[in-house]
Order: sequence, then structure tokens, then C-alpha cells
Amino acid sequence: MQQDIPSASIVSLRDVQKSFGSLKVLDGVSFTVERGEVLAIIGRSGSGKSTALRCIDRFERVDHGEIIVCGHRVDSPDVNLRALRQDVGIVFQSYNLFPHLTIEQNITLAPCSVKRMALSQAKDLARKVLAQVGLEEKLHAYPEQLSGGQQQRAAIARSLAMQPKVMLFDEVTSALDPELTVEVQKVIERLAADGMTMVMVTHEMGFAKSIADRIVFMHRGKVHETGPASILTSPTTPELAQFVGTAD
Ligand code: ADP
Ligand code: MG
Repeated sequence: MQQDIPSASIVSLRDVQKSFGSLKVLDGVSFTVERGEVLAIIGRSGSGKSTALRCIDRFERVDHGEIIVCGHRVDSPDVNLRALRQDVGIVFQSYNLFPHLTIEQNITLAPCSVKRMALSQAKDLARKVLAQVGLEEKLHAYPEQLSGGQQQRAAIARSLAMQPKVMLFDEVTSALDPELTVEVQKVIERLAADGMTMVMVTHEMGFAKSIADRIVFMHRGKVHETGPASILTSPTTPELAQFVGTAD
């Protein structure tokens, strides 16, 4: 019998296992993300954080276990990828904007091609999402004319234009200087305040502490410790204590 997933869960992973060759990268990972919740995934490099995130959007297929995202049965071979990817926005460390297109064209591309939105409507949407990330004035600029932080905010705006139900962020500030990091974090904070459901992999502990409703600490492919942001200051496992630097 399959366990019923609470209907409020936007993302649910249950006993997810994933290997690359003989390397077991996810070893029975389970967690859920409820509507409006911000989940931060932390852990050492190589602990499986990105792989877990990529499984949610089906960039990786799982070997075992169950993943349900916005009602889509992601672990099923029959999952409707197009529908799944309309519900899930993902932003990576590298901005992945198309260099030969303006910011407006970068943003209108998917709504026009995937959602068959009229161009005029997509342009209105582009203005709206650029305002959300504070970049209205860059509508007609090309990516190379923007700073790294602005490019990352434009990439977030591009994802928002698809009106996703959940946003995934994978170390989106790790390539940025500290002051640019802060401007991207502010955008993410605003999204959280507006009620966006988010799963973010981050190595910025201060940011995780301030924004996350829940923390998942991954260690060797497992969820080693999970709880509210307070676990970052009062970890219960020696591994998390060592990771956040509070170990004796
Ligand atoms: P993290 O994001 O926590 O640093 P990853 O999920 O990227 O960890 O990677 C976990 C482990 O899986 C690493 O040892 C990495 O080298 C390996 N790995 C990730 N993706 C692949 C892949 N496509 N093929 C082979 N090994 C991979
Ligand atoms: Mg990673």
C-alpha cells in the first residue's frame, strides 16, 4: 500500500535512492515541503544536495522511492514533464541566460513557446517579473551588460514568468561577490515573504537561518538531521555541529 501524501505538500520525497555507477549518492532521502514553506538544504560538497534537487525536477531519474511534486508523480515513467516543468522553476549557480537575447526576450521566450502566450501579454509579464527583482530598467539590455547579481536576478525573473508553484535554487549566490550576493538574497527574501514555496541549496548559513522554515542537513546521501532553523545554532548530531562549526 502506498502511503497517502498530505494534499498540502508541494514536494514530497520518500525513500529516494540514486546511484551513479557504484556510487550511492542518495541513500533513502525523505522530506516534504508544504505550500508557502522555505526549505534549505545544506551539507558538505558531494553530500547529494544538487542531485536531490535535480530529482525533484526530473533532471535525474531516481532508482527507487517516490517523488510527488505539485501532484505530479515524478518517479513514474509516465510523468508529464512539460506539465511538471511549468509548475517547477529552477535557478542554478550559473545564470544560463541566452547571451544573444535581450533580458525581455529571455523572459518572454518560454511563456510564448511553452504556454503559447501572446507576445504582448508576455511582454507585460516580463515587466512585472523584472519589477519583482528590481530590474525594470534592464528590459532591453543584453545579459553581458548586467552584473553577475543582476544576471542572477534576471534568471530568477525568467523562472517567475512561468508562474511556477515552487522554485528550486541551487547555490544561486555562490559565484557572486558578497554585495551582489546580498542583492540576490533580498530578491529571494521578498519571494518568500510573498508566499512562494521554495527549496534552496545554500552554503550561506546566515541566509539559511534567516529565511528557512526548515533545514535539511544532508550527509553522505542521507538526511542526517532536519528541523527548524534553530538546529543550526543547536545541532543534535556531531556531524551537523562540525559542519556549522559549533563542535567543541
Ligand atoms: P552536492 O550538491 O551536495 O555537492 P551532488 O549531488 O552534486 O552533491 O553530488 C553528489 C555525488 O554524486 C558527488 O560525488 C558527485 O561527484 C556525484 N555525481 C553527481 N552527478 C553525477 C553524475 N551525473 N554522474 C556521476 N556522478 C555524479
Ligand atoms: Mg551541488
